[in-house]
Formats: sequence, C-alpha cells, structure tokens
Amino acid sequence: MKQIHHWIAGNEFKGASGRTGDVYDPATGEISGKVDFASNSEVDHAVSIAKTAFAEWSTTSITKRTQIMFTFRHLLNERKAEIAALITNEHGKVLADALGEVTRGLEVVEFACGIPHLLKGGYSEGVSNGIDVYSIRQPLGVAAIISPFNFPAMVPMWFFPVAIAAGNTVIIKPSEKDPSAINLIAALWKEAGLPDGVFNVVHGDKVAVDRILEHPGISSVSFVGSTTIAKYVYENAAKSGKRVQALGGAKNHMLVLPDADLDLAADAAINAGFGSAGERCMAISAVVAVEPIGDLLVAKIAERMKTLKTGDGREGSDMGPLVTKAHRDKVASYLDAGVKSGATLVADGRETIFAGKAAGFWLGPTLFDQVTPKMSIYADEIFGPVLSVLRVKSYDEGLALINNHPYGNGTAIFTNDGGAARKFQNEVQVGMVGINVPIPVPVAYYSFGGWKNSLFGDTHAHGSEGVHFFTRGKVVTSRWLDPSHGGINLGFPQN
Ligand code: NAD
Repeated sequence: MKQIHHWIAGNEFKGASGRTGDVYDPATGEISGKVDFASNSEVDHAVSIAKTAFAEWSTTSITKRTQIMFTFRHLLNERKAEIAALITNEHGKVLADALGEVTRGLEVVEFACGIPHLLKGGYSEGVSNGIDVYSIRQPLGVAAIISPFNFPAMVPMWFFPVAIAAGNTVIIKPSEKDPSAINLIAALWKEAGLPDGVFNVVHGDKVAVDRILEHPGISSVSFVGSTTIAKYVYENAAKSGKRVQALGGAKNHMLVLPDADLDLAADAAINAGFGSAGERCMAISAVVAVEPIGDLLVAKIAERMKTLKTGDGREGSDMGPLVTKAHRDKVASYLDAGVKSGATLVADGRETIFAGKAAGFWLGPTLFDQVTPKMSIYADEIFGPVLSVLRVKSYDEGLALINNHPYGNGTAIFTNDGGAARKFQNEVQVGMVGINVPIPVPVAYYSFGGWKNSLFGDTHAHGSEGVHFFTRGKVVTSRWLDPSHGGINLGFPQN
C-alpha cells in the first residue's frame, strides 16, 4: 500500500500524528494508499521552515528566481503525463482531462516566468524640485494554499507559481482525497533548484486547516473548496490578520436563446455538464432554454448522451467515476429528490452500463427536464454528472434566474445575436462569462474568480490580481542632496 507523506524542507517528511486518511482508486473502489494527517506541531514545523526560507528566497535576485521558474516549467512539461496518471488513479477523471488540468496549471507557471516584468513598479521623476517618487512591490512571507479534490494539480498552480516567483515561500494543504500529484510537483521544484523550504506540503484535514488559519507565522491564505468551508476560512483567517482569498462553490447556468445554434449548444451542454463527471467548479449544471426551443434542445442533448462512454479513466472512456463512494451516493440521492419534486428524469445515470469494476464509484450522466427554481436539484451545487434543464419565456426571465442564484462563478450565453450577448455580459452578476463558450475559464494572464457566494475576499486568482495578492506595495519619495535645497520649510512642497 502506498504511503503518502508530507514534504517539508525539500524532503519527504513522515507524519507522526498517528492519524492517516484512506486514498481510493475510484474506478475499482479499492484503497490504494494512506496519507498522513498533520498535527498542530507538524504544521508549526512546516511554518517555521518556510519562514526561515523566506529570509533568503525573498532576497534572491529576480534573475535567479526566474531561472528556477523556467527550469521548473521545463520539468513540469516533461513529466506532465506522470502527474496526470497520478490524478486519474486517485480522482477518477479520464487521462486526457487530467492532462488538460496539468496543462492549464502549466500556463500559470509560464505566466509567472514573466515575473521580472510583472513586479515592475512605477517611477515619476521630478514630482517636486529634485524629488522623485517610485513604487515597489514586495513579497508577503509564508503563503498558505488549501485546495479541493477536483483539481489536485491545477488549483494549487493557480497560486503557487505566482507566490514563489514573487519571493514568497509556500505551504500547501492539498485535498486528502487525491494527495499524490502535489508530492511529485514538490520533487520537481527541488530538481529545478528551488531552495529547500520554499515549497512545503502538509497533508491533512480540518486539524491542519485550523492551525494554518490561526498561525501567526502565515501571511496569506488562498483557499478553494465548497462555499461553507470557504466562508469559514475567510472569516477565521481574516480574524487573525491574514490576507485571504477564498473561492467557493458554484451553480453555473447556460442561457440558450431561441436564435442559438442548437447543435453547438447541445454539444457544449454535454461537454460542460459531464466533463470530469461534473466535478468542476465551472461545470454547467443548469441549462436555461428560452422557449420555444426547450423540446428540441432537450432532444438534442439526450441523443448525444447516449454516445457517452462511462468507465475507467485509464481506458479510453469519456467520463470516469466519482471521487468517493460517499460523494457518489450523495449525488445519486439528488436523482430521487429530483423525481420526488416533480422534475422529468430524461436519462437516469444509475442505469448507465459502465466499463469498469463493479465496486467503482459509478454514476452515469443524468438529465432532468422541467426543473424549477425551488427544487433542490437546482438550488444546490450537486457536483456530479447531473444536468438540469429549466424553461423560461424570455431573456429577461433567464437573466433574473441567474442573477437571483446565490452562486456567481461562471455562466454562458448561447446566441447568434451580438447585441443580446453584449447586454448579457453587462447585466449578468457572475464573475466569468462565456459567449458561445460553455466553460469560460480565464487564461493565466487574466484572473479567475466568481462573485457572490463563489468567492470571499477581493482578489481573484492569477493574472495581475494574483501578483497583487502575493505582494504588498510600497511607495518611496526620495531626494538626493543638492545644496540649493537647504533651508527650513514646514509646508508641503508646492513646486
Ligand atoms: P471541500 O470544501 O470539502 O474541501 C476543500 C479543502 O478544505 C480541502 O483541502 C479539505 O481538506 C478542507 N476541508 C474540508 N472540510 C473542512 C473543514 N470542516 N474545516 C476545514 N477544512 C476543511 O471541497 P472539495 O469537496 O474538496 O471540492 C469541491 C468544492 O470545491 C466544490 O464546492 C467546488 O465548487 C469547489 N471548487 C471551487 C472552485 C472555484 O474556483 N470557485 C474551484 C474548484 C473547486
């Protein structure tokens, strides 16, 4: 059985808390490993190592830091298939999708390779006689990252490349459900020449998270996970004076106008609804059809669903299993809830014939029609392969539905009307908007983040907001001695 340990000070660090968690292979249902759960003192140890490393790393030249970033980028690219395989083994998503998430994370590393440019401040010469003003940005200290199960490589990579390039040191607490990928990434950092102690991993559960939130040696917390925990993390980390960005859950709507290309919309609903078995924070889970196209759109989606292959992600399926049995059963319970509340069950994922071992955590793609806002299948984030279709009479009714939902992560409009699309991008209260693009995840040089209950804090991930989050600004006003500037003057300089 595989043992997954912490990574502290550039080496594997065996946990001694006596507490561990089971890691599963979701496609077989078997336990594949045990992961250490950190105690308070193990978190404290990691923080003290990261704090010590910060003194040297934050003063390492930008040129040297950039060289290490480039080497890391090269190694990550070389070993991405290995990382993807680890993800599929523990998360269940199909290999191509796991490779896709590593590639999206790699793009943030590439963005962070541009840190010499990103850290440049401003300079104003001669703001007053002989006085110059300039701004600089400096790293914060120890940055903590707490990440969810659904993107074990990409989500941590939204944060740590920028944090490290900017001169911070990092402690990551990955999801206990799929912890292996981050340990391989840690080893690649070491190979790239990153000094020991700059990148640390503590595995664990609530105990480790709570210690991170209260620890005075940690400067910032970047959290991604469900809304309940995001809110808890935001409040508690802020209470102890930390800078916090806490990204939460989602319910993403796709509004389909009557003039849309319905084949394109149906393809998009399938890809965005069932990719990664719906375990994506940007998955589409609610298709809002503006009548009279509802019947035709549902027929097109249902027809495409029949072609999807559910099975072991290592063996060429379209969709893998869910991450754990408990999560699979929770998602399946929504199928009963949907039927009970009066929705029409068009395709039932419990009946899907899957290609894999019987004990795997299987649930096939499911489609509900005639869903209404009060139903739990609409109100809740299900985080599984369950797509709901709601019917509305107009664009305005569809927009109101989206804006009234407490989540505001991503959304999409499908239409051939540029004016309607432009109106939507302006009026919708959601952080990331797609126009005929169902999963509008911003590229690395823009910032990722939602509105309302999908993000607590001000700052989104990566892009310029990421650089801002992991640095703090300082403005310097300077004058070099010049005999003509002598004399006493108690007022502000006027010229
Ligand atoms: P989760 O909230 O259960 O766990 C996230 C992290 O918090 C994990 O590291 C976990 O160990 C820790 N945690 C869990 N329970 C805790 C507790 N009681 N106290 C302290 N820490 C705790 O989320 P998950 O199930 O791993 O991931 C799925 C969720 O993440 C979904 O809601 C999804 O929408 C969300 N997500 C959001 C985004 C985004 O960008 N907004 C991206 C990815 C995932």
